[in-house]
Amino acid sequence: MTEEQKVRVRFAPSPTGHLHIGGLRTALFNFLFARHTKGTFLIRIEDTDRERSKPEYVESQLASLTWAGITSDEPLVYQSERDEIYKKVLDDLFMRNKIYRCICTPEEVELRVRTSGSTDQFYKYDGYCKNDSMQDAIKSGNKPSVIRFALPEVTSDNAFIKINDLIYGELVFEMNQLDDFIIIRSDGTPMYNFVVIVDDQLMSITHVIRGADHISNTPKQVLLYEACGYTPPRFGHIPVIINADGTKMSKRDGAVDVLNYKAQGYVSDAFINYIVRLGWAHGDQEIFTRQELIDSFTLEAIGKKAAVFDSQKLQWLNGVYMRAMDAKTLRTLLLPEVDASIATRYATWSIDQFDAAIELYKERVKTGHELVQSLDLLYKGPACYKEDEYKEWITKDSITFLGLVAQTLQNLVDFSGNEISGALKALCKERDIKLVMVAQPLRIALLGCTSSPGVFDLVAFLGKKETLQRIHQLQQYAQSHQ
Ligand code: GLU
Repeated sequence: MTEEQKVRVRFAPSPTGHLHIGGLRTALFNFLFARHTKGTFLIRIEDTDRERSKPEYVESQLASLTWAGITSDEPLVYQSERDEIYKKVLDDLFMRNKIYRCICTPEEVELRVRTSGSTDQFYKYDGYCKNDSMQDAIKSGNKPSVIRFALPEVTSDNAFIKINDLIYGELVFEMNQLDDFIIIRSDGTPMYNFVVIVDDQLMSITHVIRGADHISNTPKQVLLYEACGYTPPRFGHIPVIINADGTKMSKRDGAVDVLNYKAQGYVSDAFINYIVRLGWAHGDQEIFTRQELIDSFTLEAIGKKAAVFDSQKLQWLNGVYMRAMDAKTLRTLLLPEVDASIATRYATWSIDQFDAAIELYKERVKTGHELVQSLDLLYKGPACYKEDEYKEWITKDSITFLGLVAQTLQNLVDFSGNEISGALKALCKERDIKLVMVAQPLRIALLGCTSSPGVFDLVAFLGKKETLQRIHQLQQYAQSHQ
């Protein structure tokens, strides 16, 4: 890449599952790098594995990316539509003896390797088909064949393949460790290592930024670049993401699907803000606007160490973003992600009541899902009472006292938070009892547990009728469970 060359990067997902956190981070790093350098960001769908690629995964991966604000600057490229292009490159490679057909089954290769006395668990393809007479026989026969890359002869000049990785620095691979790897499957579909280099070349990609799990593919790709007469792009491999216990986060782990987080009511900007910090830092700044991310993102600031996924920190950050949103935004943008029919979920509440309910809980929750759960409880009232808290706070005395609370509330004309607080505080003073002895049983009556927003606000929100009814319900329950 020359200095003046504009950055062109791509995110190249295989649609064999939903987008996971690692994939989103790779997309985000590419996207931010492109935006920071005023370059171009592209998306290429790597769907050559016909059995495992599914259109619904293309759709869901794109939906996740769009949710995260990541879109391609040019039309999407689908590898499954590029057979003609790959065929031309293959024809050229055949002509120049860089590739050859092979009809060996894995069993046949193993048998030959074992017969030669090798007990190695990993063994290389022995080049059985790599000669003119075998090639002629294969061409005239009808046995299914794969296409293999013919590794160059190892000499002292090419014994090591060196890659100057943008993140890991110099990476050195031994040519001896490689064999004539397959680039076209027996069903005619191309393999990743082949199509990735053809497309990166044709799409004029300048930097390949991807997960460190692809490091071992890179020497093969460099050899293919050379065989095709292309100049390789710069490579930058991003360290893996691990769980807090040190185990590797895997695609198969349901919890890593981006869509799960969307459905749990994570704010897209909060999520991006968390994901970007997995392996990248800008001093000790934790919270970034999108523009700040674009302004400060550089590849040099990506670390070499594995990044630890910390769901608590993600929740904390999401809470920070939620608190900064107003009730209307939470109601119209975030909560519909958790429940598509949120607008009709609380049928008896007016919009103002709905927003007031959100205000009651907004400071206390960390995700949209938690908010919906809290609103549900507020709306429906307790279906049961939390056992240990019930035992601690509901006694004969507290039930009697709740009767007095009910009477006091019944007599209130103005049912505002201030009036409620004033009247109940006065009641406590008059009876010489601590406020907590009222507040906790009242919370249990209203919500079934003691963790709740301020009790006077809660009573004011529910209104006289509903509050008295929930107190009555607890009294009845207590009576029948004495
Ligand atoms: N399709 C590959 C993957 O999903 C892309 C690897 C690359 O970026 O070269 O891992």
